[in-house]
Amino acid sequence: MRKLTVSLDHCTYPIYIGAGLLSQLPVYLDEVGIVPDRKLMVISDTQVAPLYGERILASLKQQGYQVDMAVVPAGESSKNLQQFEYLIGECLRFGLDRQSVILALGGGVVGDLAGFVAAAYMRGIPFVQIPTTLLAHDSSVGGKVGVNHALGKNVIGAFHQPAMVLYDVDTLKTLPTRELISGFAEVIKHGLIWDADFVQWLEKNSAELLALRPEKMIEAIYRGCEVKVAIVSQDERESGLRAILNYGHTIGHALEAVSGYIHYTHGEAIAIGMVGAARLSAKVLGTDESVVRKTKELLEAFQLPTQYDGERFPEDRLLLAMKRDKKVRNDEYAFVLTRKIGQVEVVRGIAEEEIRAALQELRK
Ligand code: NAD
Ligand code: MG
Repeated sequence: MRKLTVSLDHCTYPIYIGAGLLSQLPVYLDEVGIVPDRKLMVISDTQVAPLYGERILASLKQQGYQVDMAVVPAGESSKNLQQFEYLIGECLRFGLDRQSVILALGGGVVGDLAGFVAAAYMRGIPFVQIPTTLLAHDSSVGGKVGVNHALGKNVIGAFHQPAMVLYDVDTLKTLPTRELISGFAEVIKHGLIWDADFVQWLEKNSAELLALRPEKMIEAIYRGCEVKVAIVSQDERESGLRAILNYGHTIGHALEAVSGYIHYTHGEAIAIGMVGAARLSAKVLGTDESVVRKTKELLEAFQLPTQYDGERFPEDRLLLAMKRDKKVRNDEYAFVLTRKIGQVEVVRGIAEEEIRAALQELRK
């Protein structure tokens, strides 16, 4: 088991990463002061609840906790205000008060939704993140919670930090392969933006990671979270530095948007986006071509795509989607670009022709 501590101005919380941690949940809750006189509500989805929910409920009840579980349909479409309202109703029905605690058991969808319920219920109650996807090493840390609106992703939300993150890598064994691989894209991103040694380590360990070797997975998640923690603790509310976490996301989000959020998973889209950002960096900053090659090779070692279908998703549509990106100010394109492996920066005022040229090289 490994432990990381997140220290922010107003709070501190632990991230535990290990194998077999779920069965120890009551012990870890106790460690952060969540003792059996506090009511608990587990929030999960229809995929994860049958796999791990009942087990958790049983072990908590055995320790004397009063605990109930509310379940939403699996998938991104549950991250909305209807499910939010349903869950608030469940919390009221079970009689949660301001001392009660919500446990978010699932991937990023459950984490964001349950975290937002916790942020809003009685103006904010504590919550614990129990991530069960690899992507959730990203979403469970940092305190951004929220839901989607029909007109935009993640536009309704709050900053609400968890009281603890408990990451049991054993849960990843039941994760569909495509979801697992998608999660590696964010792990790789954390290396590419901040930690060249970690990138080297990922290159060396790709096969064992894809085979879910527990000690390697613990290390990968630990180091990925470490990067996120370092950045979030310097810029909790995204006034500057935190923007670098969007490396690969400008093209990635555009690909997700033009493909209607079905063709590419988020990880696949940002994998392509990171190669695009590296290519653009070579043009705009004169970054060495070896950075493009290394980025591509690493993503391919994790079976991630590095090119997009240019026939299906024309450049003009991608550029239009990019203009709607949150980072665009005064009609100017902004990108997170790389100088070298492990070092990135936000660059504004990038000419459209440069982006077009990078996109052309990115086509299949
Ligand atoms: P997800 O939560 O939808 O999980 C993916 C699928 O895997 C779902 O069908 C889920 O039911 C299933 N699943 C989860 N764990 C499983 C397990 N152990 N075994 C079997 N099946 C399992 O998606 P995700 O990729 O984890 O998260 C995506 C969400 O995270 C998006 O909504 C995104 O906006 C959000 N996100 C938030 C932040 C943040 O900072 N808050 C950062 C990145 C992403
Ligand atoms: Mg992302």
